[in-house]
Amino acid sequence: MSWRDDFPVFDRPENDRLVFLDSAASSQKPRSVIDAVSKYYEESNANVHRGVYGLAVKATEAYEGARAKVAGFVGAYDKNAVIFTRGTTESANLVAFSWGRQNVASGDVVVVTALEHHSNLVPWQILCEEKGATIRMVEINEDGSLDLQDFAKALSLNPRLVAVSHISNAIGTVNPIKRLVAMARDVGATTFVDGAQAAPHVQIDVSALQADFYAFSGHKMLAPMGIGVLVARPEILDAMPPFHGGGEMIKVVGDTSSTFAPIPSKFEAGTPNVGGAVGLAAAIDYLEGCGMEAVLKHEKELGRLAIQGLQGLGGVKIFGPESERAGVVSFWVDGVHPHDLATILDESGVAVRAGHHCAQPLMRRLGVSATARASFYVYNDEKDVDALIGGVRKAKEIFAITV
Ligand code: PLP
Repeated sequence: MSWRDDFPVFDRPENDRLVFLDSAASSQKPRSVIDAVSKYYEESNANVHRGVYGLAVKATEAYEGARAKVAGFVGAYDKNAVIFTRGTTESANLVAFSWGRQNVASGDVVVVTALEHHSNLVPWQILCEEKGATIRMVEINEDGSLDLQDFAKALSLNPRLVAVSHISNAIGTVNPIKRLVAMARDVGATTFVDGAQAAPHVQIDVSALQADFYAFSGHKMLAPMGIGVLVARPEILDAMPPFHGGGEMIKVVGDTSSTFAPIPSKFEAGTPNVGGAVGLAAAIDYLEGCGMEAVLKHEKELGRLAIQGLQGLGGVKIFGPESERAGVVSFWVDGVHPHDLATILDESGVAVRAGHHCAQPLMRRLGVSATARASFYVYNDEKDVDALIGGVRKAKEIFAITV
């Protein structure tokens, strides 16, 4: 029995040969998550927090139980400082809109890095433009690791905020996040960590990390789409104005102004994604069952084998550092555009991503417009690596003839 057997998508006859190597974009879902969501809708569905009848109480318990599960999984400061959002993107926008509008002023500096996904860049750009503040982008080294000297230089500007990813989605760089957060805190900066590629793969402890904000998405960690998380220091959330206005987030609504509910409700206006939260709790149960150390070891090993195999083909450039990398393998094959490569791989049932991976500043620094990216997760195995290598070999042969 392998973890792959837990994922019904691979049992479908039409997916007989599916080699799914695009988990950095979104993961597949195990049976236990699909069942938990179905069970919730079959047995406990109602709107939460408002009803006194039994079903509403059950739904509320499921939703708040999921919040407690997430809090435990990532070492949140407080269960009520776990805010459910739609995903990492919404979490970043929440912080930019609410904390940013209150705390960033003209002349301030926001530090980001050249490794960021657009979700951890564009919200800060919009904020800085509105406020007359400046973005300072920290450079990368030749090997795709973060330039720590440049990071220190950027911190000498005394930024209001440092927004940095834990793991790069585009090239798999694992940042020394504890060190980066500590350095940022030393200069009094608030820290926002984009954990979209970390929470699915490594054990997170936000309290030990001492980050002010930590964000991630459920759909990349075996849970449904449309559910994500913002973990933060409760005192910072308490001091922040609301993000969205509406039901659920108020205390008293007057004719012309309102007072707001305490956290987490203040940041969860409207009807939340209860089914998604239930699915996220089930995904956490699944990952805890696997053991996060085993998960990371498994995908790092597959990544290592993939790099070894690709390098063996010749004419393949691998992006990202040699060590300190996750199970994301971003590469360029001489003479084959990544989009053509992805199409040829698809013909052999191998699903990889080709493109800029929502990291255009990084692509510019790497000197390419796109890369091909294979990303590994619990359901992948060595056969998948072999299929990838075989598919790339085939693409090279085709292009050697036609070009
Ligand atoms: N940050 C990183 C590092 C990502 O990989 C992604 C998604 O690919 C995001 C942010 C955005 O996540 P979402 O689309 O779930 O909001």
